[in-house]
Amino acid sequence: MLHAATYDPIETASPDVLRALQLDRLRWTVAQAARSEHYAKLFASIGLGPDSLPVRSLDDLRRFPLTTKQNLRDSYPFGFLAVPKDRVVRMHHSSGTTGMATAVFHTIGDVNRWADLVARCLHMAGLRPGDVFQNMMTYGLFTGGLGLHYGAEKLGAFVIPMGAGNSHRQIEFMRIFRTAAIHIIPSYAMALLDTLEEMGIDPKRDLNLRFAVAGAEPYTEGTRQRLQEMWGIPFYNCYGLSEMCGPGVAFECPAQQGIHLWEDSYLAEVIDPESGEPMEEGQEGELVLTSLTREAMPLIRYRTRDVTSFITGRCPCGRTHCRLARIHGRTDDMFIIRGVNIFPMQIERVLMAMPEVGRNYLIVLDRDGYADRLTVKVEVTPDFFRDEVHALLRLQDRISHALREEILVRPRVELVEPGSIPRREGKAVRVVDERG
Ligand code: ADP
Ligand code: ZN
Repeated sequence: MLHAATYDPIETASPDVLRALQLDRLRWTVAQAARSEHYAKLFASIGLGPDSLPVRSLDDLRRFPLTTKQNLRDSYPFGFLAVPKDRVVRMHHSSGTTGMATAVFHTIGDVNRWADLVARCLHMAGLRPGDVFQNMMTYGLFTGGLGLHYGAEKLGAFVIPMGAGNSHRQIEFMRIFRTAAIHIIPSYAMALLDTLEEMGIDPKRDLNLRFAVAGAEPYTEGTRQRLQEMWGIPFYNCYGLSEMCGPGVAFECPAQQGIHLWEDSYLAEVIDPESGEPMEEGQEGELVLTSLTREAMPLIRYRTRDVTSFITGRCPCGRTHCRLARIHGRTDDMFIIRGVNIFPMQIERVLMAMPEVGRNYLIVLDRDGYADRLTVKVEVTPDFFRDEVHALLRLQDRISHALREEILVRPRVELVEPGSIPRREGKAVRVVDERG
């Protein structure tokens, strides 16, 4: 049993205790939200709110309308701020991956609670005071840098605030300072393997890593398996979004059977993105989150656009907080080719199951006359790249066939040299749409 090893006893609290706490905090959140311009107006217009709607049970949550990214945008920058500006100690800002920038504000209480949550996550993964933690995420407006930084410090770790990029230096530091854990974007963890090879460093033999924390972008189980094999350490999935603080909203335990969503801090629903109705347990839908302790910018029923499902049953780790399946991506990552809906992760899943496939790929959408065309550029392993032409052609055909099975459209497959697809330090761009 891992009970004794939890960072916070709340991790194994009984469902009754968790529900009672959530109800308390939901009431508080509704009252707090009413102080923002957006929710004050909304509550007034629909006659819901702390006075007109006493939240009697958690089911009452469903009577509140969903909050969307568009709402955040419409009241940018301060419409959701629920405290006087002089109580804000920090701002983060989304990178606008999907073209919609949002500003998120924190009070000192928010920042402290967030650090506690992150400390809890890292402790769950096995980080202990004194361990060297190398944070390889961009510092600044992006939450991956400062978010994990303060959490790791709070835990008492020895934090190296590397930031993103500078691959050689990253590896040198891992060696010199005997880094125990890294926080890294999965696509960058893949790219860094090339640098390790270049430097003649075997991470299993020459480094002292115990685990990696990987998140901020979707990746498949196959990618995780590869990363674990190549690096020789567990990769724990870390999920979060700026609107809910950042990383630390949900995190994988050593059982690696889904990510635990911290229910003392967030209320989760999975809905049908079309109808807004709750999905049956275990069915995939859009994750909707309500913050329960956010002071500066509480959000009620926020549509994350992330696609996932609840995992049923108890986790062998003994933690009682609900589990979510690996996030496949956002509803808006989906693209349509000849009328078929496709998620990039479906393509990644097929590719990463093939040993001849290398470490990177790119999906290109363009037109061939009037018809949409889907091309998948696939890096192959160095050994395979040196192979004979007909072996390459056979592989090309096999990939195309396997993709056809998965996505129902037969793509063009281009096999390319290892390392030839441009790499990024931040979140990977998986799809280039040139259809105009
Ligand atoms: P931006 O919208 O600019 O990318 P964020 O940095 O807040 O802003 O990104 C949060 C989003 O990143 C999440 O909503 C989700 O789509 C994605 N994400 C974060 N962590 C993971 C993860 N572990 N797995 C899949 N997607 C993730
Ligand atoms: Zn668990």
